[in-house]
Amino acid sequence: MSDKTAKKTTILALDLGGSKMLSALVDVFESADGERKTELRGVARRALTKDAGRDGVRSAILDATAETFERTGENWANVASIGATIPGVADPKRGYWVYAPFSGIADFPLADELRAQFGKPVFADNDVNACAWAEKVFGACQGVDNFVWITISNGIGGGLVLDGKVYAGKFSGAAEIGHFNVVEDGAPCGCGNRGCLEATAAGPGIARRYRELVANAAGVSDFLTENDAASSELRVDWLRYLESTGANANAEVETAKTATAASVADEARRGNPVAVKVYDDTGRYVGRAASYAANLVNPEKIVIGGGVAGSFDLFYPALWATFERCLFKATNKTLTIEKTGLGYEAGLMGAASLAFAPYC
Ligand SMILES: [Zn+2]
Repeated sequence: MSDKTAKKTTILALDLGGSKMLSALVDVFESADGERKTELRGVARRALTKDAGRDGVRSAILDATAETFERTGENWANVASIGATIPGVADPKRGYWVYAPFSGIADFPLADELRAQFGKPVFADNDVNACAWAEKVFGACQGVDNFVWITISNGIGGGLVLDGKVYAGKFSGAAEIGHFNVVEDGAPCGCGNRGCLEATAAGPGIARRYRELVANAAGVSDFLTENDAASSELRVDWLRYLESTGANANAEVETAKTATAASVADEARRGNPVAVKVYDDTGRYVGRAASYAANLVNPEKIVIGGGVAGSFDLFYPALWATFERCLFKATNKTLTIEKTGLGYEAGLMGAASLAFAPYC
C-alpha cells in the first residue's frame, strides 16, 4: 500500500455456542501502519438445542448465513474466508469439532463441510482460544505476546497466548482456569469435582451464593457452601437497606431464589450490601485463580471477558487486592488485569480472528 487508505478484508464469522449460534460479516480495515478497525454487519442468530445434532447445526448455519447475506446485500465473491468457533473440544488443524459434552456431537468435520458448502477457506477452533486470539488480533492485546484470557459467563474458560501463539496443550486442555479449585469441598462442579472456580464464580455460582447469603442474613438458613456467614454488621446494613427500599427480609429470600448474576449486579449497584459482598467475594475467587495462572506463565496481561465482565467494576477492586496478595511480584511488576477490548460480540470477533490471522 502506497498511501494511508485502509485495506478492507471481509470475513464470514460463525460463533457456535451451547444454546445458540451467530452469523455475521466482519469487515477488518487495516491501515498502512498496521492499525486495525473492525465492523460487524448482518448479525443473525439461531437457536441450537442440545439435541440439534449435526443436521441441526448444519441447518442453523445455512439459515443464519442466508439471513446475514440477505440483510447486508453482500456478495459472496467479496468474502475472503470463513472463521468458526466451536463450543467444546476442537482440533484446529483439521477444523474438527472433536467433542461437546452438552450436545453429544463428536468428530464432526465442520471446516471440511463449510469449505465444501461455501467454497472458501475455513478456520475453526474452540471458542475460548478464538477469543484469546481475537484479543491479540483485534483487541486489548495487540502487540502483546504473552497473556491469559479468562471468560466468565455461565461457565469459566481460559485461553493462553504464549510467545505470540495460542497454547492449547497436548489434548486441547490447557488453561482450564474454571476448574482451578478455590474452595476446599465447595459446591459441586459440572466436571465432577467440588469447589472449582466455575462452580463458585461463574453466573450460576454468583446467583447461588447470593441466594444462600440472603437466606443466611435473614436468619432462615445457616447453610452456606462457601460464603462467610453474614456478620452481624452485614445483617444490620442489609436490614437497613431493605427498610430504605420498602422491602422485607422474607420477601427478599423468595426473590433471591430466582436471582441471576445480572440481577445481583443490579442489586449491588443499588447499594444492597449482600449483593456487594457477593461481587466482592467473586473478585476474591477470580483474583486467587488469576494469581495461580500468573505465577505459572508470567504473562504481560490478564484479560477478562464474558457476560459477567459487564460487572467488571463491581468485582475488580477485590480481585486486584487478592491477586496482588497472592502474586509472585518480583517477575510480574508491570502485569495488569483488564476488561476485554472485544466488546459484546467477542465470539464473532474470535471467529473472525481465526480467519484473518490463521495460526493453523
Ligand atoms: Zn470443575
